[in-house]
Amino acid sequence: MVERVLLASPRGYCAGVERAVETVELALEHYGPPVYVRKQIVHNIHVVRDLEARGAIFVDSEEEAPTGATIVYSAHGVAPSVNAASASLGHNVVDATCPLVTKVHVQARRYAAAGYTVVLIGHGGHEEVVGTMGEAPEATVLVQDVAEAEALELPKGAKVAYITQTTLSVDETAEIIGVLRRRFPEIHAPKKEDICYATSNRQWAVKEMLDEIDLLLVIGSRNSSNSNRLVEVARALGVEAYLVDDESEIDEAWLDGPRIVGITSGASAPEKLVVRVCDWFRERGIDDISPYQLVQEDVTFRLPVELRRELELAESQSV
Ligand code: SF4
Repeated sequence: MVERVLLASPRGYCAGVERAVETVELALEHYGPPVYVRKQIVHNIHVVRDLEARGAIFVDSEEEAPTGATIVYSAHGVAPSVNAASASLGHNVVDATCPLVTKVHVQARRYAAAGYTVVLIGHGGHEEVVGTMGEAPEATVLVQDVAEAEALELPKGAKVAYITQTTLSVDETAEIIGVLRRRFPEIHAPKKEDICYATSNRQWAVKEMLDEIDLLLVIGSRNSSNSNRLVEVARALGVEAYLVDDESEIDEAWLDGPRIVGITSGASAPEKLVVRVCDWFRERGIDDISPYQLVQEDVTFRLPVELRRELELAESQSV
């Protein structure tokens, strides 16, 4: 029977998600609805529904937004071809790509321009990977796991560099990089690793807590890469873990054995969902709920430049 709940920290919203959600909110305020958003602004169904209710229209492709519409690009980034399509449709583009994703795009472009074959470590089909590959499609090869790193064939004498998706498992990526370094000793590495601070901090916070808990609940949506990685981190170290969008997805049968339950949330999950899950436990008589705090994050990003300029202009005209 569950006696105690521990809340991992850091958890939940990262600076890139804060910025992306605020960008859509401010765009709705400033331009008025409808504001089109290309793909889910962040991978969380609650956030998407909330913004939809305020007038955001989510589209799968920029081509679904009418000529001249305001369109916000999601935090996961876009390929240059998306910008080109928006330009031909006369879109008013607000780019909410996380600056840490943009940094990886810049690396991809630089490596490709310098004649490198770029090995992108990431998950095929994920929006971030689609966007990054679009920077230099002919020069980029995708490696998704250790087996693919082992099987990778490159032309003899090719200059090789690797970059990674920002939301991968730190441990699994280190293994893949180990294989690439063994097979291609000259491989060029990014100066600073591409897995972002929020992804690594959340995985680290979970690992630190694992000795104390019998079960981990990760609050996040199915398509949230970093949330899925949190589940995997716990399972790889022998602690059962489940991904839930909110309290309605908790199966009471999971709680039959565990005494101490850990809770964390992915970088795109709002804190109000953690509060709801805690209330769910309180309703079942479990009041011992406390944070397992390791570090305080204080990263923030400025709003997208195009929106910042618009807002500054509007403010100067109002005085
Ligand atoms: Fe940016 Fe990392 Fe957040 Fe993705 S998870 S939006 S890369 S800070």
